Amino acid sequence: MNQADAQRIRGILFTLGYTETEVEEESDLILFNTCSVRQHAEERLYGRIRSLAPLKRQNKDLIIGVSGCMAQNHKAELLKELPIVDLVFGPNDINQLPKLLEETNNKKALGNFACKGTFEGENVDGIVLTRPFSAMVNIIRGCTNFCTYCIVPYVRGPEVSRPLDELLAYITDLSNKGVKEIMLLGQNVNVYGKDLGMTEGFATLLEEIEKIDGIKWVRFLTSHPRDFTESAIKRIAKLTKVCEQYHLPFQAGNNRILEAMHRGYTREKYIELIKHVRENIPNVSLSTDIICGFPSETEEEFEDTIDLVKQIRYESAYMYYYSPRPGTKAANMKEQLSDEVKKARLARLIEVQNQISNEESQKQVGKTFEVLVEASATRSDNAMLGKTRTGRPVDFIGDSSMIGKFVNAKIESARNWTLSGKLV
Ligand code: SAH
Ligand code: SF4
Repeated sequence: MNQADAQRIRGILFTLGYTETEVEEESDLILFNTCSVRQHAEERLYGRIRSLAPLKRQNKDLIIGVSGCMAQNHKAELLKELPIVDLVFGPNDINQLPKLLEETNNKKALGNFACKGTFEGENVDGIVLTRPFSAMVNIIRGCTNFCTYCIVPYVRGPEVSRPLDELLAYITDLSNKGVKEIMLLGQNVNVYGKDLGMTEGFATLLEEIEKIDGIKWVRFLTSHPRDFTESAIKRIAKLTKVCEQYHLPFQAGNNRILEAMHRGYTREKYIELIKHVRENIPNVSLSTDIICGFPSETEEEFEDTIDLVKQIRYESAYMYYYSPRPGTKAANMKEQLSDEVKKARLARLIEVQNQISNEESQKQVGKTFEVLVEASATRSDNAMLGKTRTGRPVDFIGDSSMIGKFVNAKIESARNWTLSGKLV
């Protein structure tokens, strides 16, 4: 989501005449597009910005800005904590960036921290793609789930879907510009269209995208297990463009913890969902998000998470230890676990999952995949890097004329998540 916002911010800056540089000393503007899902991300920002103080002293015209969820979370407070910052705006204020930049000429500029997202005025001319053949498409902004650990609904506001006809026009424009792969984004893509009165709107959207010629691959992120129905899976399974990559965050393997998290499904329901996905989508690659050390989680309850990981065998997982976010329900629970316990559980979980990930990677050896070529690989001069439909990076010997095209590669070896193959 953060990257999709950055895609828009870059578009606006390019329209205003900015160009991009990796060199801080050359910059007229340094903008930090932040995340506030975990404490760690917030802490890193303070250090990074303070380290810019000497540069700001040398170059009085340098504008330092903070955007994203952390900006929304702290608002004007950030200016007090970080006096060298000139500009602060939230994820729902991106449209105002040109006006805000102008304001920085004579004062500190603040967005209005709109509590609700919009899609107003968003068109393909307003974005800049890092790879011209691949685009992220926001289909729904915000979240109304209020999982008890999560800050997202507070900083991004309630669910707002982009109307179907607008989305299809936007995706058609992308395809006319040469985009072949799209990643549909939402905190919970499965409720797409619910706020517009649609039922099973997500499956309908995917069926309509299937008809757009230039688009070849469609991915989506994130699915909420509670809202992914068997009938939607059956409809999606018929579509040839939807990639066999399903990210289904389960967060915790124990029912009491799932309830305390307010996730709206049980372990048994989740296992049933995975069964439906595997039955309907052959060769599906599964990944997940997991939190360990949620307040009051016992050793036995944590074992249920380990057990689920072993039972499902994900190709990959994003694993975190619980980070209390001020203002959320879980942060106020009395039975917070120590960092020591949380970190030890995370380390155990990572060890179990890493072994599974490696074993699943080895199983890819000998298979042939369709690969979208993305870039040159650093490994050697003519090594190229691409991605399978299941979202795995593959490197192989080729040439840069292949970038943006589809090739077939037979996998010869696997290291961790990345595969190496040869063109066939
Ligand atoms: N909407 C997505 C998740 C968005 S946040 C979903 O529901 O799946 C991405 C991930 O960050 C979550 O899946 C969760 O695993 C993790 N996360 C969110 N809040 C967290 C917290 N307070 N501490 C640790 N991990 C957290
Ligand atoms: Fe956060 Fe839950 Fe919404 Fe995901 S569904 S963004 S975890 S509140």
